[in-house]
Amino acid sequence: IPMDQVNEDEAKKEAAELRPKLIKWGKQYYEQDQPTVEDAEYDRNYARLQDLESKFPAIVTPDSPTQHVGGATSNEFTKVNHEIPMLSLGDVFSPQELKDFVIRLKQNYPEDKQYNCELKIDGLAISLRYEHGVFVQGSTRGNGQIGEDITENLKTIPSIPKKLSRPIDIEVRGECYMGKEAFLKLNERRQADGKPTFANPRNAAAGSLRQLDPKVTKERHLSTFMYNVANYDDLKADTQSGLLEELKELGFTINEHYQVADNMDQIDDYIKKYSASRDNLTFGIDGIVIKTNSLPLQMEIGHTVKVPKWAIAYKFPPEEVHTKILRIEWTV
Ligand code: NAD
Repeated sequence: IPMDQVNEDEAKKEAAELRPKLIKWGKQYYEQDQPTVEDAEYDRNYARLQDLESKFPAIVTPDSPTQHVGGATSNEFTKVNHEIPMLSLGDVFSPQELKDFVIRLKQNYPEDKQYNCELKIDGLAISLRYEHGVFVQGSTRGNGQIGEDITENLKTIPSIPKKLSRPIDIEVRGECYMGKEAFLKLNERRQADGKPTFANPRNAAAGSLRQLDPKVTKERHLSTFMYNVANYDDLKADTQSGLLEELKELGFTINEHYQVADNMDQIDDYIKKYSASRDNLTFGIDGIVIKTNSLPLQMEIGHTVKVPKWAIAYKFPPEEVHTKILRIEWTV
């Protein structure tokens, strides 16, 4: 039923059908690292649920996937409480929707003038805690409030500094991913050994990080790009782009392909540039993230229960994702 014709009873019924389906797919993706449907199909069903719920807020249920950051924690790992929750990202699927988002933001916050454009790395979110500049604990996002302690596994990743250039207490967040080459080699090896191959680099990275034996993680050649912190108290930066540079100074690896944009045209140029060149990158991306550049403004704008309101992900069209997966399979 088209969204403008659907009534509340129909919406309630359809939403009740969509939720268990999305919850099942979410379990397979987040907990078992073995998705059974393509992301585009998940995204389509999720977007429909989101639209139904925003048209009829009374039908929202507390267990709806729209109300939680996806993913649970496995009992095989010690749990870590995220004092500052790890959020997801709102997403849009067309340049027009992205434009609408930026316009709305500008209307509500006229001082919102600059955006930091970043690549949306196709990996999984991690959080790294440092005390006096020493790495003490690392965790997965889990459900956003509670993650899994994967400190020993993270210690095997060369791009994660054990000691920072300044003795500060800080919790840094970012993405752990498996580069394209490491992914192809891993799947080749697994195929030769008669083991099931990973569907894509994201699942390979997630499967490799959530291992009980850190030696296995080490062999998987994971990498990281950090882009966020839980709190800014000990930092000098007052912009998102400045934060990236400061994280680099502290010893983290950041993704250098970021760009500050002053207007929608520049955001469009950035999207065009990386839509065209993504195949040449050594790591997978599934979209572009646009963030309000001012950190004080990010804090003022705030977040919903699930996503920051100062950022949005523009996801690449599904055909491209599909071609990308096929190409990898052919290469294997
Ligand atoms: P998401 O992956 O769409 O976006 C949020 C995440 O983006 C963040 O948590 C962070 O880890 C990551 N990210 C990468 N680069 C970033 C950057 N530069 N700045 C900030 N964040 C960055 O959201 P999600 O909630 O983790 O997952 C939902 C998505 O997962 C769905 O849209 C779908 O594509 C996929 N999914 C697929 C299935 C399936 O069965 N195929 C099931 C569940 C979810």
